[in-house]
Amino acid sequence: MTFDFVARLDALRRLMDAHSVDALLASVGADLPYFTGYEAMPLERLTMLVVTKEGPPVLLVPELEAPRVAHLPDGFELRPWGETEDPVGIAARLLDGLGSVVAGDQTWATFVLALQQLLPEARFGIASPLTRQLRMRKDPEEADALRLAAHATDRVAARLREQRFSGRSEAELSRLVAAMTVEEGHQVATFSIVASGPNGASPHHEASDRVIEDGDAVVVDFGGKLDGYCSDTTRTFHVGEPAPEYRAIFTVLEEAQAAAVEAVRPGVAAQDIDRTARKVIEGAGYGKYFIHRTGHGIGLEAHEHPYLVEGNDLQLESGMTFSIEPGIYLPGRFGMRVEDIVAVTDTGVERLNRSDHSLLVVD
Ligand code: ZN
Ligand code: ZN
Ligand code: ZN
Repeated sequence: MTFDFVARLDALRRLMDAHSVDALLASVGADLPYFTGYEAMPLERLTMLVVTKEGPPVLLVPELEAPRVAHLPDGFELRPWGETEDPVGIAARLLDGLGSVVAGDQTWATFVLALQQLLPEARFGIASPLTRQLRMRKDPEEADALRLAAHATDRVAARLREQRFSGRSEAELSRLVAAMTVEEGHQVATFSIVASGPNGASPHHEASDRVIEDGDAVVVDFGGKLDGYCSDTTRTFHVGEPAPEYRAIFTVLEEAQAAAVEAVRPGVAAQDIDRTARKVIEGAGYGKYFIHRTGHGIGLEAHEHPYLVEGNDLQLESGMTFSIEPGIYLPGRFGMRVEDIVAVTDTGVERLNRSDHSLLVVD
């Protein structure tokens, strides 16, 4: 996969101009790989791309990590700093006299606070209001990467249907899901939630020692990174035939998810996708058990803009990618969730996940 980092930096510069931003700092987090292809190690030594209006962007890296950057395409200058140098001082000199500086949202406070002390005249803000305008709309290469990652999780979901669930602990199944996530093409599995029986009512449940038994519903939510891009898929399994009540509620969930997917097209507000899913679930009387937003953007980060949530009137545009993942959670009893990644097309929607997302009955 090749990405046009120079074009992205050019687009960033135009945005900075339009918003009167003098400098952008990209450190730990996804802005740096978005603009350079390089991901900072989340360690105590400073890695920081300094983009100002004039001159080439400068990437400050610890000298010992400079070999990791050598292969990268042009578009910025490399400034390795040695163990006895003060990297924050170097960054401050690059920013000297500038008025408006924005920093990537995950930039460590220790560096931002030190920079603020060195540059008392500068106004600091976060970078995401600017960078999300670029990162939300995926270019065709990014869409391809997300498609590959989604299809890899689809293969995992298909293989899971062949597995025996009863008698295994959540933790054991979670390890299996993570291993399959890598086997199917991800470089790394980043999470594998397995929430069985009453644990299913906790959307971000940590896989435990609980042994899955006959009659359990099991929510499996997993994903990884493939060529830097994230996957995130949820399938709900049931060990043995579900009771009529569970199946009836699951039908409501499927209708809500399908309605939300079908509502996706350019020009629709993000919150309207949430409202569409919620209306179906509320209509069936389970509204208070749908305790989270309908979805989140996905790309270099597993959760990023746009968020499909009440209050977000952002209009969807072609190239945006996000999850559609309504869930219904009955405390102390069970949960259920269906999650697919979709992309907004010029005329409607493309489902990146294609695997069966009905209620999957397993042994
Ligand atoms: Zn989640
Ligand atoms: Zn998920
Ligand atoms: Zn998700």
